[in-house]
Amino acid sequence: MADTSATPGIRAAATAGNGFPTQARVVVIGGGIVGTSVAYHLTERGWRDVVLVERKRLTSGTTWHAAGLVGQLRATYNMSMLARYASELFEDVERRTGLGTGFRRSGSILLATTEGRWEEVKRGASMARLCGLDVELVSATRATEMWPLLDPAEVVGAAFLPGDGVANPTDVTQALAKAARMGGARILEHTTVTGISEQNGRVTGVSTERGDIACEYIVNCTGMWARELGARNDVAIPLHASEHFYLITEPIPGLDPDLPVLRSPDDTAYVRVDTGKLMVGFFEPGAKPWATDGIPADAEFVTLPPDWDHITPFLERAARRVPILGEVGYQLHFNGPESFTPDDRYILGEAPGHRGYFVAAGFNSVGFAGGGGAGRAVADWLVDDHPPMDLWEVDIRRFMPFQRSRRYLYGRTTETLGLLYDMHWPFRQYETSRGVRRSPLHDRLAARNACFGEVGGWERANWYAPPGVEPRYEYSYGRQNWFPYAAEEHRAVREGVGLFDQTSFGKILVQGRDAERALGWICAADIAVEPGRIVYTQWLNDRGGVEADVTVTRLAEDRFLVVTTGTQAVRDMDWLRRNIPSDDHATVTDVTSGETVISVMGPRSRELLASMSDADLSNEALPFGAVREIDLGLGYARAARTTYVGELGWELYVPSEFATHVYDEIVAAGEAFRLRHAGYHALNSLRIEKAYRHWGHDMSDEDTVLESGLGFTVAWDKPGGFVGREAVLQQREAGVSRRLAVLTLDDPEPLMYHNEPIWRDGELVGRITSAMFGHTIGRSIGLGYVRRSDGPVTADWLAAGGFEVEVATRRVPAAASLRAPYDPTNARIRA
Ligand SMILES: Cc1cc2nc3c(=O)[nH]c(=O)nc-3n(C[C@H](O)[C@H](O)[C@H](O)COP(=O)(O)OP(=O)(O)OC[C@H]3O[C@@H](n4cnc5c(N)ncnc54)[C@H](O)[C@@H]3O)c2cc1C
Repeated sequence: MADTSATPGIRAAATAGNGFPTQARVVVIGGGIVGTSVAYHLTERGWRDVVLVERKRLTSGTTWHAAGLVGQLRATYNMSMLARYASELFEDVERRTGLGTGFRRSGSILLATTEGRWEEVKRGASMARLCGLDVELVSATRATEMWPLLDPAEVVGAAFLPGDGVANPTDVTQALAKAARMGGARILEHTTVTGISEQNGRVTGVSTERGDIACEYIVNCTGMWARELGARNDVAIPLHASEHFYLITEPIPGLDPDLPVLRSPDDTAYVRVDTGKLMVGFFEPGAKPWATDGIPADAEFVTLPPDWDHITPFLERAARRVPILGEVGYQLHFNGPESFTPDDRYILGEAPGHRGYFVAAGFNSVGFAGGGGAGRAVADWLVDDHPPMDLWEVDIRRFMPFQRSRRYLYGRTTETLGLLYDMHWPFRQYETSRGVRRSPLHDRLAARNACFGEVGGWERANWYAPPGVEPRYEYSYGRQNWFPYAAEEHRAVREGVGLFDQTSFGKILVQGRDAERALGWICAADIAVEPGRIVYTQWLNDRGGVEADVTVTRLAEDRFLVVTTGTQAVRDMDWLRRNIPSDDHATVTDVTSGETVISVMGPRSRELLASMSDADLSNEALPFGAVREIDLGLGYARAARTTYVGELGWELYVPSEFATHVYDEIVAAGEAFRLRHAGYHALNSLRIEKAYRHWGHDMSDEDTVLESGLGFTVAWDKPGGFVGREAVLQQREAGVSRRLAVLTLDDPEPLMYHNEPIWRDGELVGRITSAMFGHTIGRSIGLGYVRRSDGPVTADWLAAGGFEVEVATRRVPAAASLRAPYDPTNARIRA
């Protein structure tokens, strides 16, 4: 929410006679690294009436026992950008407060002991450059020169990151707290928040054991307590505590105090110097969830019992890499709790449906390094009423409410801790807490040898194994085992007909007397069409950024169906509720579960459906962009003539109780047309050949609709205007110097995934946001933003440049274009 006080930032917290604050603008709950970082950064933005409350003492949650590693390179670009800020912050806060933070830029070495890991390290090194991080790839010999206690025997290579370091978590937190106080914040220890009050979906205050504080915002920074505190207000904060271990050796004479931190993810271990000793910590598979029934009320500076049986196999593994670890004695076996989320990513942002309720929790054992950037991001989010950068991967709105389930989290937490250091294979699937959301067709698809992947709890067929082949992933950075099967599915859709189960689509009904006006205000396209038409549109924010990418089907005068991706339903529902003007009569209902979506796609789809329906499916009766109810077998469906694969086809919305019948009929009729089941990997390769964007990858709330290349959907002059119009109009006049382009590699061998740097004539101009191998084109195709410093990005500018995409440090020549590589005139979808 923008600062609306008469004298922004100057207001001081009101107090009762006993000095206890009775009012504040924002109450930050939790005095760990994250809470103090949020409080400090709020004061940096000029907010003075900030109160931080901590139930015990500062740092007494998880922060005090962090190992102090400050790593900057994370699994993704955005997370690395957040983590990068920590070292800058630690140095700065030390200067400001005069309190030491123990920060030392020791550098770090990231070892690879397998070819797969080496590929991952090289891909990470390419991404690091995008983030402005220094990184040097070194040989095993050089790594051993830098780290003489290392046995180089199996080391394939390593990355050296000179900017990484270590710091003292308690000292950093105290320094941030002091800096926050210097900025006007009040910090209250021994004050437990017992409740958060809300009125009409807005936070109004907090209750504590010492009194109530009226406030406009709260930030739940309570670490492993956050789920329980959230539950009191029905805010889903899916995280679970896990035991987490490190050991400290006895003093080792002559140990070099300046050794970099050593990370050996293949050994699930890291090693750092700690005042003349070595500390070795673990990210082992099969972690031990803790306190499933709730964090004990008196928990403070918690130390859990050691577990040598659990940790010894991993210590032995680490000792093969660093032999001295097997020779020395151990002074400390530390076991402390830390919270983990279902996808190993933080939970940040404003809770959907709870205005003013912010969350910054779930730090998956990288919260000490991550808390600096996360704290700043959340403070900016509060002050500006929007995230400062694309934070979708850590946004609280990505979670489905069911994910707060204790049992679900327990199972997943056994896996997520180890995944931090395990291989981050492309397409890697979770193995725990699966099978939660299944389409009515699930068992039938399983019987056809579907290999399922999970998204938002949904089990979705990613690919189908042929008879006799087990539907299991064999991961690598190259062509994985399913590659040829997905290629056949892809070809079947291009040349014949394929069937996709797209039931996981989020489906939102917007209805009411003013539904057209309300939705028209939110959509950039014109949705005031005749009933029976489908409109592709984006929802923009005030900055012109794309908040959602959806289709809107007008079902009746006063009824619209919004279809979005499965992961976005919560976010999109929230956006609708926030933006429907309050005096408009329009309601919003999530109807995802009511209909199964069977997509029949390909040049023979019309013939197939016509063979089992009396409906007229001709272009005249049912053109592209139209929707009609049609009979299918003995059942029926709403047939939507639309596509995400770029072929003639229909998405069939079937009431769930009819779903298996309609499916069986399609499959039976499909035999004559060699109907092939196709999965999400084929869907992805088909869509990328058409350069169809994917929200969350190829566009986000920080990419405008013009930058995304979707200006053609915008109804600039529709009556009543739309959210974001002014911003994009201005940009249209000024010209677009950053634009989504299609990059097709010349060499058919390398595979892009995302976050690969894009070079033009030797200059770094952007990065790939999503990619897949295009089986029709025969090359890897990526979408990515490119930036031009001296004018707009145009087709001519792209054609005039020599483009390369950096794949695992190798620059691969590529063609850059604004047009889709496949059927750029859309002839096939209108066939
Ligand atoms: C063994 C171990 C090693 C680690 N090593 C590293 C590392 O090297 N690098 C790294 O980046 N990260 C590391 N971590 C992770 C890091 O410690 C955490 O991610 C981070 O400390 C989380 O900070 P936080 O502020 O979210 O939570 P916490 O520090 O737990 O703070 C939450 C606070 O909220 C308070 N609170 C809870 N409920 C209430 C309430 N109702 N009212 C008021 N206050 C409340 C609690 O008392 C607590 O102090 C490690 C973790 C462990 C366990």
